Amino acid sequence: MAKVAIIGAGFAGHTAAMYLGDALGKNHEITMINKFEHFYYIPSWVWVGVGRMELDQTRFHLKKVYDKMNVNFVLGKATEVHPDEQYVIVENRDGSNGTTRVDYDYLLIATGPRLVFENTKGLGPDDGFTNSICTGPHAETSRDNYLAEVERMRKGEKRKFVIGTGHPGATCQGAAFEYITNIHKDLLRRGVRDKAELQWLSNEQAAGDFGVRGVHVKRGGKVVSSEDFIKAVFKEYDINWQVQTGVLEVNEKQIHWENFAGEYGDTDYDFSMLIPQFLGQPLNFLDKDGNDVSSQVVAPNGLVKVDAKYGQPHAEMAQDPDSWPAVYQNPNYANIFAAGIAFAPPGTISVPHTTPNGTSISAAPPRTGMVSGIIGRIVALNIVDLIKKGRMTHSERMTEMYAACIASMGDSLWDGSAAAIIVYPVVPDFRRYPNEQGRDMFVTHMEMGLAGAWMKRMVHTTFMHKLQGRIGWKMIPE
Ligand SMILES: Cc1cc2nc3c(=O)[nH]c(=O)nc-3n(C[C@H](O)[C@H](O)[C@H](O)COP(=O)(O)OP(=O)(O)OC[C@H]3O[C@@H](n4cnc5c(N)ncnc54)[C@H](O)[C@@H]3O)c2cc1C
Repeated sequence: MAKVAIIGAGFAGHTAAMYLGDALGKNHEITMINKFEHFYYIPSWVWVGVGRMELDQTRFHLKKVYDKMNVNFVLGKATEVHPDEQYVIVENRDGSNGTTRVDYDYLLIATGPRLVFENTKGLGPDDGFTNSICTGPHAETSRDNYLAEVERMRKGEKRKFVIGTGHPGATCQGAAFEYITNIHKDLLRRGVRDKAELQWLSNEQAAGDFGVRGVHVKRGGKVVSSEDFIKAVFKEYDINWQVQTGVLEVNEKQIHWENFAGEYGDTDYDFSMLIPQFLGQPLNFLDKDGNDVSSQVVAPNGLVKVDAKYGQPHAEMAQDPDSWPAVYQNPNYANIFAAGIAFAPPGTISVPHTTPNGTSISAAPPRTGMVSGIIGRIVALNIVDLIKKGRMTHSERMTEMYAACIASMGDSLWDGSAAAIIVYPVVPDFRRYPNEQGRDMFVTHMEMGLAGAWMKRMVHTTFMHKLQGRIGWKMIPE
């Protein structure tokens, strides 16, 4: 009987657990270790943050699903991995003090990002001044602060909202974009839009870059870029934008930044939501003598090293689609895999930039929910292969992967909107698509309108169905 342990029940780990439980759960031991008892459908937190959805509607109990799928569930925080002796130590969070030891033959690390607010002084809701929609409680606090702003505007005050990224190397611009456009729509609905100034502030090369080098589509024989598309949205919604900007520090009233040209400046705000830097979750990797072997498993940023080609200059890496990992396997411990945000990418997708002062302002590569789910499935199917056949038969690089992204711009099914973007491949492959964008221009697509708002709502419902392992779950793609 083989033992498979998974750390982290997000899009990547939970998807993997479902495939592993389904294929192996009756005859082998599959164990999920997660810090929380719920799965959270994070994409809908943009609606929680404006009071349009309750947090409860974005979560479900994991244990119920795992009982059905023959997966053991350990509620707790993994703190140590012993790669030689093949076990994980978990700090229990089930009310019992102490720790649990989980043995494994195969380990999947799918711990998502550590939200590193502390790398930008004054950032974040806990020890700083800005809001966040990156955790459930943060999204609820943002909602309360946002609604307090609405009340002030109802009394006639003018307020300034600044939304975007809070670190020069931040990622997840898509979530911030959804938040600012949902704020616009929500303020309109509440009748106070004229009292609000909205500003986009991000580390992207250009509006609409989203850390994936932007998206380009052919329309009526012309190439239209996501930059044109997003700028048109900003103009229509009366949102000011400032890109090529790395936030360095925040105080109670101002956001201090540096831009690509190396100029420093300050932006005033009343309400701000800025995405922090994402690094790897802390885990101690120890050999049998208790020595730290972390450098064998994780990169200096805490993300797990896999079968990527690390260390190439960006220009070379960008021309080499095989620099992106195919099977997400650690090179030093062949039974350790990583999926979702937890794996260390070989570099950025967008072109990195260093200012004349030496500050790197470079959007980190996003690994969205869909990408994380696909990688979780690939890893799970390979672990099934290894157990049943002794070799892996699945692989998918991000230079071979589709991604569909529906960016909500107002949740209403009557006057809401969403930008539906299909990108293929997620990471440009200039070898297969030697156009300027490195992408298949027939498949890559962008569309905006009310239909997108319906799709976004359907995606929420469909995924909550799939991820609870309900009937037909495997037929619904990640
Ligand atoms: C507001 C917002 C909106 C977004 N909207 C979209 C969208 O519309 N579409 C899209 O595709 N993507 C979206 N994303 C991105 C998407 O949420 C992430 O890409 C996705 O969650 C990454 O999945 P993951 O499994 O790698 O990590 P996570 O979802 O972060 O899951 C990691 C899990 O590991 C657990 N964990 C961490 N450390 C430990 C430990 N030591 N022990 C035990 N458990 C641990 C965590 O508690 C968590 O459950 C959005 C993100 C945000 C913040």
